[in-house]
Amino acid sequence: MNIILLGPPGAGKGTQASRLNAERGMVQLSTGDMLRAAVAAGTPVGLKAKAVMEAGELVSDEIVTGILSERLDQPDVKQGFILDGYPRTATQAESLERLLAEKGMALDYVIELAVDEEALVDRITGRYSCAKCGEGYHDRYKQPKVAGTCDVCGSHEFKRRPDDNEATVRNRLVEYRAKTAPILPFYEAKGLVRRVDGMAPIGEVNTAIEAILDGR
Ligand code: ADP
Ligand code: ADP
Ligand code: ZN
Repeated sequence: MNIILLGPPGAGKGTQASRLNAERGMVQLSTGDMLRAAVAAGTPVGLKAKAVMEAGELVSDEIVTGILSERLDQPDVKQGFILDGYPRTATQAESLERLLAEKGMALDYVIELAVDEEALVDRITGRYSCAKCGEGYHDRYKQPKVAGTCDVCGSHEFKRRPDDNEATVRNRLVEYRAKTAPILPFYEAKGLVRRVDGMAPIGEVNTAIEAILDGR
C-alpha cells in the first residue's frame, strides 16, 4: 500500500506517518526530513536548501524530486510507503506520476488531513522532537510519558526546528494555500482522495486512517 498524506504544515502528517510505520511497517518518506539531513550534512543540496527552508519557502521542484527519486530506489519502500510533504506543487505531482510509472509503483490513496488554520500556528510553535530518534512531541498535545524523557529511546535531549516560529509558519501557510492545496483536484479526478478530520485527537486520526487503509 502506497499513500500520500496531504495537509498544511502542522496538520499531523509526520505524527501519523510515524504511527503507520510502527503499526504496519510502511516506510515514511518525508522530503522535509531528507532536506534537513542534507542541510545537517552540508551537502550541495543542503547548502542550497538551508536559507529557503528558514524563510518558509519551497525548495526547487528539481532538487526535491531528485532526492525523492533516489530514495524510492531503496529496497525498503517495497514494503509500502507514506509520502509526507511531497508533492507540494503541481509540477511535483506530475513528476511523481512519472517516477512511479518508471519504477513500476502506484498510489492507493491520497489522505487529506483537514485542519483549521488557527490551530496550525499553535501546533507548530509547540512542536519539538527527540534529538536522538526523531520522535515528535508537543508542549501541550503530546508530552512524553515521563517528563524530559523520550518515550521511544529514553534520550533526554530534544530539539526544535529553526523554521517552527510564527513568522515562518505564516509564510509556509501562504505557500501551502497557493501551491499545494491546488493539487487536490488532480487526485480527486483520479478518485484517490479520502478526507480525514485532522482536528481530532492523534489516536482518533490514526483510527480513521487505518479504517481507510483496511477498506472499512
Ligand atoms: P506535519 O508533519 O503535518 O507538519 P506534525 O505531525 O509534526 O505535523 O504535527 C505538528 C505538531 O502537532 C506536533 O507537535 C504534534 O505532536 C502535534 N499534533 C499532531 N497531530 C495532532 C492532533 N491530532 N492533535 C493535537 N496535536 C497534534
Ligand atoms: P511541515 O510539514 O512542517 O511543513 P516539512 O518538514 O514537510 O514541514 O518541510 C519543511 C521545509 O522543507 C518546507 O517549508 C520547505 O522549505 C522544504 N520542503 C519539504 N518538502 C518539500 C517539497 N516537497 N517541495 C519543496 N520544498 C519542500
Ligand atoms: Zn527518542
